[in-house]
Amino acid sequence: MVCAMRPIPMGNKTMTNQNSAPERLLELDNVHVHFPLREGLVKAVNGVSYHVNKGEVLGIVGESGSGKSITARAIMRLLPKRAEAPEGRISFRPRNGESYELSALGRNSRAMRQVRGQHIGMIFQEPMTALSPVHTIGAQIMRTVQLHMGLSRQAARARAIELLAKVQMPRPNELVDAFPHQLSGGMRQRAMIALAISCNPSLLIADEPTTALDVTTEAQILELLKELQSELGMAIIFITHNFGVVADIADRVSVMYLGKIVETATVDDIFYAAKHPYTQALLRSIPRLGVDQGRRLPTIPGMVPDPFSVPSGCAFNPRCSHAVAGICDTQVPPEKIFGSQMSRCHFAEQFAAREAAHV
Ligand code: ADP
Ligand code: MG
Repeated sequence: MVCAMRPIPMGNKTMTNQNSAPERLLELDNVHVHFPLREGLVKAVNGVSYHVNKGEVLGIVGESGSGKSITARAIMRLLPKRAEAPEGRISFRPRNGESYELSALGRNSRAMRQVRGQHIGMIFQEPMTALSPVHTIGAQIMRTVQLHMGLSRQAARARAIELLAKVQMPRPNELVDAFPHQLSGGMRQRAMIALAISCNPSLLIADEPTTALDVTTEAQILELLKELQSELGMAIIFITHNFGVVADIADRVSVMYLGKIVETATVDDIFYAAKHPYTQALLRSIPRLGVDQGRRLPTIPGMVPDPFSVPSGCAFNPRCSHAVAGICDTQVPPEKIFGSQMSRCHFAEQFAAREAAHV
């Protein structure tokens, strides 16, 4: 039995009404992002499908290089110049009667700039990716809310101060005039969150927002994101390589490996009923509080293969203790559905049967 570092949230807070199906906010269908490089074609995102419901937190977990950030950048239409997106649909419905086919929008199109300004906020590991070093925090927030909410200068400044208070910045009246370099790492992270939520987005994409922080600051930022999420009702895509963080914040989790989603489930099912050997291996490498201190943890054998030579069949097969020659190394596993859970493993039924035997 796996014990997460933090308590696992019980229940599903997105289902406010037992009888109504949750409303889809964002839907990715068979999204591909390729990099044609001199050394070969890198399929960084290789047929990713997932959805995010209104007001829910979807965690995306996977080792470095699995395609988590490039998928996020495909949603925002902020892909690197040499990236190609040959296939896939990304649909976004922020409000009733308002829907966007993001996959059909140009990076600098008016509609896409409106989506990025008003409907989808994004935060990163490094706040200076989003913040300008030459403008005050207040000026940056004011510019956004003046542009997208049509506020006057005075109202925009009041809104900036209100937002800094909302992200629990001390002395918001003073810090509104601070430059990013005058703030600590944790405070810069709060300023970036204030900017990202300034126009009440229905979706926040958080790409490893706590990875560079110390444990105490990380816990504070996670707490803040949870409070903002429930207060503002926005959905969050929370990207991380750290399963412990996901247990704390997510309703559902998608696990990514080499450009594909290999498993999606509720947090409870991911932690207690994982049906993909990659998920199971990642879970075994989480330190258990009080049990594993000072002990060496099992790591997943082998390295993530280099992106030019992704193994055939199931890409995880060379590192998988369950792999069967002739099946796993030759056939791409299909999506297998178990209620609300999806696993792309040829032997997912066996894991399900083993759970049934333990009940
Ligand atoms: P993750 O966020 O999961 O760590 P990324 O989405 O950043 O991974 O990248 C996935 C893969 O895409 C990388 O391993 C790399 O091979 C490729 N990639 C990312 N950015 C570029 C780029 N600018 N040029 C070429 N290849 C890239
Ligand atoms: Mg990344």
